Amino acid sequence: MAEIDLKNLLNCALCANMCRCECPVTQVFSREAVSPAGKARLAYLLLEGKLDWTEDNYAALSTCVGCKGCETLCPFLELELDKELQKVKGEGASQNFNLEVLDPYRANLKNYSSPYGMKQDIPKVQKGDGEIVFFSGCTSLANNPNSIKATLSLLDKAGVSYQTINEDCCGYPAEIWGEPELARQLADENCKRLAESGASCLVTNCPECWLTFKKKYAEWGVELPVNVKDSTTYLLELIESGKLQPKEVEGINTVTYHDPCIWARVEENIEAPRQLLAQIPGVELDEAEPAGANSRCCGGGQMFQLTFPQEAEAIALRRLQEFPGASALVTTCPFCRESLKIEGNEVLELVELLDMACK
Ligand code: SF4
Ligand code: SF4
Repeated sequence: MAEIDLKNLLNCALCANMCRCECPVTQVFSREAVSPAGKARLAYLLLEGKLDWTEDNYAALSTCVGCKGCETLCPFLELELDKELQKVKGEGASQNFNLEVLDPYRANLKNYSSPYGMKQDIPKVQKGDGEIVFFSGCTSLANNPNSIKATLSLLDKAGVSYQTINEDCCGYPAEIWGEPELARQLADENCKRLAESGASCLVTNCPECWLTFKKKYAEWGVELPVNVKDSTTYLLELIESGKLQPKEVEGINTVTYHDPCIWARVEENIEAPRQLLAQIPGVELDEAEPAGANSRCCGGGQMFQLTFPQEAEAIALRRLQEFPGASALVTTCPFCRESLKIEGNEVLELVELLDMACK
């Protein structure tokens, strides 16, 4: 297990905790124990043996959506509290603590290589020499197959040489649920199929898949045999090279774009979606407040909807109040879409809007 940054965990435990106002979890639980410094205090005392591991302590450590809102106000630049909490949770998992609510999802992951159970088949496609692999991700497969259809349709329209593979979950849920060996096993299986595909680049709509392939595989000691690109950047390149030519979409003239936390604060990818939206004639951006790097979590981070569904919904409702009421609400993450489409809200993934514009 990666080494825990005890020094910064103690700094955090002793901090004035002003960042709690940017922590969506603290806002909805209203409990000091789940605030950033509260969790750091708990983590530090558990590691020092001053507190015993209990189900409650493990659950309190699990109340982090990984949004990095706390980092926007944090004076300790090297501290990544979400990552440290993940490592401390690993200690708890090694003593057989986990969240019971996740048992069925964990079993699905082991039995079907997807947390959602038996996977729907991804359409098997091979166009040309299949230079690009489009990786759907299990959350899109389970919850929004239309986003997959839209992406494949855009690749077809642009005349791209691409393929799909028999994909397993990227391994992200296994890691956050304290199953590092399973995460590694899924990674190995995906890498084997990617190597067999002969492709040079993997494109995905899912920021969590992107992060896992791009950064986590290396941390797990797994060598990915292809480059990785997020679909927004890739599709923007196709538009700029004239291979896709978006037109007006009837009924959509103002769009609010919700930045997923990974694109806002983990790997800055704020401009590409806005540049892509600017390429759709007749569409004006009506920004949320806050937006971009200061965007707030919708409650979907670290699969919070599965672990704490009521609180995840409360976080989503808070985020929805920050939107101005444009004719379309658009995001670039299947987890964000799932979180925000409560109360009858229609939420589009950017690929769906672009496909409508390229009809
Ligand atoms: S995350 Fe940073 S700002 Fe927030 S309580 Fe910890 S040390 Fe303080
Ligand atoms: S990463 Fe987000 S949810 Fe986790 S402690 Fe920081 S602000 Fe709270």
